[in-house]
Amino acid sequence: MTSDENWSRRSQAARALGWVDQSTRAVTPPIHPASTFLRDPDNQYSSGYSYARDTNPTYDQAEALLCELEGGAAAMLFASGMAAAGAVFLNLAPGDHVLAPRVMYWGLRKWLMDFAVPWGLVVDFIDMGDLVAIKAALRPGQSRLIWIETPANPLWGISDIAAIAALTHGVGARLAVDSTVATPVLSQPLILGADVVMHSATKYLNGHSDMIGGALVASQRDEFWQGLADIRHDGGAVLGAFEAWLLLRGMRTLYPRVEAACRNAQAVAEHFHDHAEIVEVLYPGLPSAPDHALAARQMRGGFGGMLSLRVRGGEARAIEVAANVKLWSRATSLGGVESLIEHRASVEGPDTPVPGDLLRLSCGIEDAKDLIADLERALAIGIS
Ligand code: PLP
Repeated sequence: MTSDENWSRRSQAARALGWVDQSTRAVTPPIHPASTFLRDPDNQYSSGYSYARDTNPTYDQAEALLCELEGGAAAMLFASGMAAAGAVFLNLAPGDHVLAPRVMYWGLRKWLMDFAVPWGLVVDFIDMGDLVAIKAALRPGQSRLIWIETPANPLWGISDIAAIAALTHGVGARLAVDSTVATPVLSQPLILGADVVMHSATKYLNGHSDMIGGALVASQRDEFWQGLADIRHDGGAVLGAFEAWLLLRGMRTLYPRVEAACRNAQAVAEHFHDHAEIVEVLYPGLPSAPDHALAARQMRGGFGGMLSLRVRGGEARAIEVAANVKLWSRATSLGGVESLIEHRASVEGPDTPVPGDLLRLSCGIEDAKDLIADLERALAIGIS
């Protein structure tokens, strides 16, 4: 590495920390597909590598860059966002008390209810926008972890990271933040007081919808971090070398992609904000949004590329509008260069807190005017 600590994070990302291969002078890192590494004659591993379920040089580069972007002490890649999130909960013990959001990535909420609770964690799902409720729900001596997601899927409420970190630490617990949607471009939870940040690297960090991965970044390399490393090593949920390399390549354009997605989301939100066919636009970047002031204080450079539209006419009409778009792709996931639209209640099933008329939009990097025109055209079909 030839990293210069005076470079901004944007420059560090663009140059992947300035890494240059010393033997070939290649300006892009190679992929190291090796699963195993030579042991020295004196029985040591002087390279620091022994087996790729522990670590691999290709993970190291992506982990080092993400650690720098988040302002953390250590980072670790996982086979998926769910594997990364699951590791944090599995690092607790049965009987431990956890607070999780009522509105959050539904797959993790389902995993908590289907696996973590039967395993023995005591989980309360609460409104993470309500500091009084959080304080009341904490159990000194039993609460070990607060998990928040901000902005939170798919209603895009904002949680106050610094205030929740203070409450969490007041009872000796840890704060973990799913910052997949904010990305380190828009907020850095560790700097605001969180202990662990989680990303579905599948989304903005990679940005091209061509790999599945997850990551954790921590404020300290302590015994909790060692526990996470053991869970990854022993459970085996490591990322493949090719995926780690795709992730590093994607992170080099993280800043311009996220900035373009934020501009598009802001333009789409403002356009449909007073629209006859739209009941409500959910986006923290709208000055009328309930969490706008908090978002403006906590986020830098934009309010994210995700928003939701509630379509006049209810669930069937929302599904019809999603069926009529041409430029937006009707698909799940988020954070890629292509814009996606999804009827979210269909994905989340009967227990969802998401209204049936809601379409979730992941803004890509196309022209905002084309994205808006495509939605306008889809909304006009079937209106007499
Ligand atoms: N967190 C958020 C906010 C997500 O949107 C997702 C996936 O959609 C995940 C976590 C899970 O990540 P993965 O699909 O990479 O396992």
